[in-house]
This record gives sequence, C-alpha cells and structure tokens, in this order.
Amino acid sequence: MGDYDKREKLKEFYLKIKNCKECELSGSRTKFVFGSGSACAQVMFVGEAPGKNEDLQGLPFVGRAGKLLDELLDSIGFDRSDIFIANVLKCRPPGNRDPGIEEINTCKGYLLEQIKIIDPRIICTMGKFSTNLLLNTDKGINTLRGKVFKVDSRIIMPINHPAAVLYAPSRMEILRQDFQKIKRLVDSDSEIPACEEDILNLESETTGDKQSKGEQLGLF
Ligand code: URA
Repeated sequence: MGDYDKREKLKEFYLKIKNCKECELSGSRTKFVFGSGSACAQVMFVGEAPGKNEDLQGLPFVGRAGKLLDELLDSIGFDRSDIFIANVLKCRPPGNRDPGIEEINTCKGYLLEQIKIIDPRIICTMGKFSTNLLLNTDKGINTLRGKVFKVDSRIIMPINHPAAVLYAPSRMEILRQDFQKIKRLVDSDSEIPACEEDILNLESETTGDKQSKGEQLGLF
C-alpha cells in the first residue's frame, strides 16, 4: 500500500472505531485514544493503555512516561512524527488498573488492524501487556526485553515500559541501551536474515525445550 493509501485507510479506521462501545471502558473514558504518529512509520511503539492525561487529551503517552519516551526517541534521532504510537487498549482502565483479559481480547483487533495498515518493519512493545499479546506468550518482560523476534515478516523487540522504569530508575540504563539497539535495527536496512526462528520457538522454550530453533534473531 502506498503512503497516501495508508493515511486514508488509517483515518477511515479511526473514524470507524472512535465511538467504540464494545466494552465497559467506553462508559468511563473521557476520550478514545486511537494512537498518534505517521501512518507510514517504519517503527511502531505499543504501550499498555491510556492513563489519566492520555484520557483527557485523547493522545498516547502525554504524561511523565511520555516525556521519558520523547527523551529516549530523541536520543536515537527520532521524534513522534517518525513513528506511530499505539496502545493495547484504546480507553483508560479506571484508576489506571491493569487491562483485563476480556478488555484486551475485545480491543486487540483494533491494534492488529492498525499494524496491518501501517505495516511497520519494527514493533517495539513496551511492557508486558503489549509484549505478551503480540508475541503470544506469557513470559515475563524482563526475560524478553532487548531480544529481537521475527513474527510474520516483522521484527518485534520488547522493551521495559517507560512508566515502569520511572518507578525503578535502576533500569533506566537498560532502557537507554535498548533504544540504541532499536536504532541499530532501524539502520540495518538489510532484510531480516532468512531463518526459521519465529514465535513458536518461544512456546517451546516456555515448555522447557531448550533446543528450540532459537528464540531470537542473532543480529547482535
Ligand atoms: N502508558 C501507556 O501504556 N500508554 C499510554 O498512552 C500512557 C501511559
């Protein structure tokens, strides 16, 4: 799909879902948070769910975690117009509680459609909810972060959620290093090496098959 078509499709999709009432969160939300950035982005970042500020403004990552995200993007020469930022849930869970499984299942189709339209080469999942959803695993974020997975024709790289790092500043350096790795991935314009790794290997790893074909691409 060309850039023009992606923009039009994404806009059309936004208009179609912005008044969503598929789950109870629609009753407590102030604004639906579709996501923001470029419909033609090579890199997409996926968080968890809108918080208080996002709910008020209708934009993702506009609070403290968003400031940190902006700083990290800047550290690798990106700003928000270069990427697309979305969340697993489009509406704020009251009190910023964790997303519920049913809410995720109800909402995930929206994220998957956004990914389909934008068709990014790289998806950075921030925190456990987006990571577990897009990698279809229940492994912990601290095991998965910084690794590079190939799913379909994309690269998925989990990182710690910026909000979690604000609560655990000792992890800041790791997050900074993971952003440097994202930059290297972006800069390596070669195709993902043809190899057999895919997310099924993660599942076999979870079930103790240590000889899985390799849970990550050996890019670095
Ligand atoms: N945390 C998220 O996961 N998403 C936001 O949009 C803001 C904070």
